[in-house]
Amino acid sequence: MFEDLSVSKVKGVGKKTEEALQNLGVYSVGDMLSYFPRDYVELPEPGFSPEKEGKLVSLMLRVDAMPVTRRGRRMDVTVTTGRSEGQTFELIWFRMPYVRSLVKAGETYVFYGRLVQKPSGYALEQPKIFQLRDYEERRKRLIPVYAASSEIKSTKIEKLVRTILSDPAFALMDNLPAELQKRQGLISRLLAIEGIHQAKSREALIEARKRLVFEEFFFFLLTMESVKEKQDKEKNRFPAFRDDFVEGLIKKLPFSLTDAQTNALSEMKQDIAGPHLMHRLLQGDVGSGKTILAFLLMAEMAHNGLQSALMAPTEVLASQHYETFQRLEEELSLDFPVILLTGRMTAAEKREGRKRIAEEKGAMVIGTHALFQDAVEFHSLSLVITDEQHRFGVRQREALSEKGERPHILVMSATPIPRTLAIILYGDLDISVIHELPKNRLPIKNAVVGPEWREKAYEFIEKEVAKGRQAMVICPLIEESEALSAENVTDYSALLKERFGKQIRVDCLHGRMDGALKTKKMEEFASGKTKVLVSTTVIEVGINVPNATVMMVENAERFGLAALHQLRGRVGRGAEQSYCIFVNTGDEEKNRRLEILKSSNDGFYIASEDLKLRGPGDFLGVRQSGDLGFVLADIYQDAELLKNASEEAKRILAADPELSSPENECIRQALDRKRDSFLENLNL
Ligand code: ADP
Ligand code: MG
Repeated sequence: MFEDLSVSKVKGVGKKTEEALQNLGVYSVGDMLSYFPRDYVELPEPGFSPEKEGKLVSLMLRVDAMPVTRRGRRMDVTVTTGRSEGQTFELIWFRMPYVRSLVKAGETYVFYGRLVQKPSGYALEQPKIFQLRDYEERRKRLIPVYAASSEIKSTKIEKLVRTILSDPAFALMDNLPAELQKRQGLISRLLAIEGIHQAKSREALIEARKRLVFEEFFFFLLTMESVKEKQDKEKNRFPAFRDDFVEGLIKKLPFSLTDAQTNALSEMKQDIAGPHLMHRLLQGDVGSGKTILAFLLMAEMAHNGLQSALMAPTEVLASQHYETFQRLEEELSLDFPVILLTGRMTAAEKREGRKRIAEEKGAMVIGTHALFQDAVEFHSLSLVITDEQHRFGVRQREALSEKGERPHILVMSATPIPRTLAIILYGDLDISVIHELPKNRLPIKNAVVGPEWREKAYEFIEKEVAKGRQAMVICPLIEESEALSAENVTDYSALLKERFGKQIRVDCLHGRMDGALKTKKMEEFASGKTKVLVSTTVIEVGINVPNATVMMVENAERFGLAALHQLRGRVGRGAEQSYCIFVNTGDEEKNRRLEILKSSNDGFYIASEDLKLRGPGDFLGVRQSGDLGFVLADIYQDAELLKNASEEAKRILAADPELSSPENECIRQALDRKRDSFLENLNL
């Protein structure tokens, strides 16, 4: 099928472009078509008005003179002026001396950039330059903005997608039966792919997205169905909780469990003491205290001479859990073996770890997914807990059952999902919820501020660092984007380095760094070496730095509130007062949304309020649940589609479990192609 062809077969893709695309995860033509824009820009009608100050505007201007470049201390600045109806505007470009060759004095262009007021009058910063005719053409559609890199620009990606879509050899097959499409009111796959890349209007975009989101859910659910264990209830071969051992431990804890923790624990206890294996989801907001429950369950297994394993999504989190467990053992005077196994340990260390896992029967094992590689043989694995496992633990369960292990399963997640949706997504899992934070917690102080407060925020961070604390700054982008005006980690960390000077160590972190480097940087922050960490949302999962007291989020309006709430959960974990600064670079309306964060610390409530405030279709650039591993789909705003997809999946499987009928042929083919990559993704 053409979708499997290498992307190098596309006209215009040479060696360099191919490599650049591969770095973005695009290998095949199909990957390219599934590399959806992350945002869209609607170009405004050219025109000036003072209210647009601070916003992106278009002005049709006659250029007065050839731009000149001044060498600044930090960067080149290229300037000229342009005129429209008697009014003069300054045009300013940073680090773009080459614009001198793009405009001619006396000619008229459309300039699209940010309108700012200077003492000398209005100016446009970093404006893009368009020929008049070209601008009018572009205004007829939404301009896609792809997550690009310094090696390949968004416009190049746009062009390549266009080349593929206009090539008659690339005939896109549908993967949903026509009947189903009709029933669900979905457009065809071809129209949807075209629509998402080359949207003519917002309405068209919504239709395209609807189809693709449905498809994403539908195939996800079918994949889940295909890995689900066939037997309903399996016999529990690991009876535990036959004495009051855990009660004894709880009494010795330095704090008392919250009611919600106690309830969740008793539900899990009933499972583990019962006739069948536990299959449970433990959902609890960040900081609600899930780790201690995991520890208590694992200690109970160890008390019964049985092994258990705790899986973390990152090396850093696994190491942190390892330390926490050792500390808890000390506090509670226990000496069950605690074994760490992660991917980056040396071969010798791993060998040693595996040997201990094979021999020490009451061990509590902590690790990353290295734990489930073939070479690991457990002595008596009775319980597997996956932490922060937003991806449902499916892959782990499959790996386990392939090895013939059938332990109790607990999946822990901090992502707030309404129960009705959790039932669909997690299928066969029972659900416990910790709906309450420990009472001793100092509530995080929140501020929603405009960009003019940045300097104050930096001063505040300096003060906190002087007190020995640390800060995190979150930016939406990795590096500068030609089309999106949002802060990026690369420039922002450079700016803060300059702002804070040598005294304060500033570092940066983002998802495109390789695993070892990410781990190193997270560790340097966790250990206190780095004082200010500028990061994308990769920091969302897997870092726990109680000493971090400030979280500053740039362009906060671009994030879903649930995502912001998750980010906020990264501070306020220690004894000190913590602060969250949300910088709103959007309008007042956006402020109203962000204010919800101030009024509540309840992740469930926040996600639902956010949805109420934003209308349907206001999905661009704002996602609630990026951590669930879906590309486009968002379980909050697409809840209805999730339900529909679930119904369709059930209906089709009930009538044709093997998907062998001719009309389901297209589903089966697509499922075969998608299944592996889906499972790979789940394993991330
Ligand atoms: P999460 O649910 O996000 O994984 P953690 O388990 O990391 O949260 O708990 C956050 C912090 O709260 C830890 O330092 C933990 O020791 C502490 N903690 C857990 N339960 C309680 C409680 N009942 N009272 C006070 N502190 C608690
Ligand atoms: Mg946790």
